Amino acid sequence: MSLQVVEPRIRGFICTTAHPAGCARHVDRQVAVARRDPGGWAGGNLLVLGSSTGYGLASRIAGAFGHGMHSVGVCFERPATDRRTASAGWYNTAAFDAAARGAGLYATSINGDAFSAEVLEATLDRVRRDLGPLDVVVYSLAAPRRTDPETGQVYNSVLKTVGQPSVIKTVDLHTGVVADVTLDPATPEEIHDTVAVMGGADLRRWVEALLKAGLLARGARVVSYSYIGPEATWPIYRHGTIGHAKADLEVTSASLHELLARTVGGRCHVSINKSIVTQASAAIPAVPIYMSVLFKLMKAAGTHEGPIEQMVRLFDHHIGPGRTPVVDAEGRIRLDDLEMRPEIQAEAMRIWSLIGTDNLRALSDYDGFQRYFRQLFGFDIPGVDYSLPVETEVPAFDAA
Ligand code: NAD
Repeated sequence: MSLQVVEPRIRGFICTTAHPAGCARHVDRQVAVARRDPGGWAGGNLLVLGSSTGYGLASRIAGAFGHGMHSVGVCFERPATDRRTASAGWYNTAAFDAAARGAGLYATSINGDAFSAEVLEATLDRVRRDLGPLDVVVYSLAAPRRTDPETGQVYNSVLKTVGQPSVIKTVDLHTGVVADVTLDPATPEEIHDTVAVMGGADLRRWVEALLKAGLLARGARVVSYSYIGPEATWPIYRHGTIGHAKADLEVTSASLHELLARTVGGRCHVSINKSIVTQASAAIPAVPIYMSVLFKLMKAAGTHEGPIEQMVRLFDHHIGPGRTPVVDAEGRIRLDDLEMRPEIQAEAMRIWSLIGTDNLRALSDYDGFQRYFRQLFGFDIPGVDYSLPVETEVPAFDAA
């Protein structure tokens, strides 16, 4: 038992505490958006890699509560200790599993390194034992490093430009100061290592293993996530090290698409999603300012979406039971259509050019950005009394 009042401890894009009741409420709010009458559920089996936060969590909620899908989730989260709370993803997972089971759905979660041979094997065992062949596989890992399970080599990803140094506007999330920063170009080794972490190699390993184990159903759909966004962020995103990794993910996905079509009549696509505040995206220079500007414009236009609205669209229109993905000329699902509307982008870039420390809050939804960030960790959620002590040791994750 560890009852305590939990407060946010935020420094820049890191928050070292999470609020169990706030995280549970945050999950419930997403469930409420996705929930449909069980009478309309078509069911099916879903595996989500990276299931505890951000797009992966929202995918799992959309599949479960929108379509009645039974699910296995895999994530890498930290339990509570005497000295600190568990991570937000730990509390989110406990809340999701409880809510799904309460709705009569099978839900189990595996905590460990999805890049490892052990977690892959444990997942195959769990799927084989409890679910059977999968209809949908979502690959939503965002990780800073990966150990190659065959060679033991450790790769670290970096957020850098490629080729030339680049000057880009960014906000210091700790001080709120907007300033130009110079981004140094990555070395060839850093580019290679970032591709090794966030590129397609691990997606291929999972898809091939599932196929070999006979755990992909006829017509199975596999989806992974990427981002394109506006030119202002391209030096750090699309043309940077992470963009190189995403290009590799797209090439891998296209080749896995052919493999799945040939073997199980299945599909594999990259979905280009909208920018949303997550632990991964808040760490990318320039992106927090861009998101703050974008949110203000999309809210005014009535088109703003969070992760759950995006994932409800993904399941309803592209990968849910009985759906056929609608793709662009490059075979990608486009959920960034509302973000990339020309009028939104033109205005976002106009405001971007004007923004500085003094007018950040007036010209953008920086307050909203900061609130979304705190909500990732269960803080600032309406209806939660933060003055009350809460139990921080929350059971999550079933024994194998
Ligand atoms: P996130 O940080 O919220 O989620 C990452 C997930 O990966 C968590 O569940 C975490 O537990 C899990 N994870 C990390 N390392 C792991 C490991 N070694 N083993 C098992 N699980 C591990 O990130 P996110 O922003 O939701 O990103 C998910 C995907 O969506 C990424 O591919 C990202 O590039 C893409 N994407 C994000 C955005 C955005 O704006 N956030 C936009 C478009 C695409």
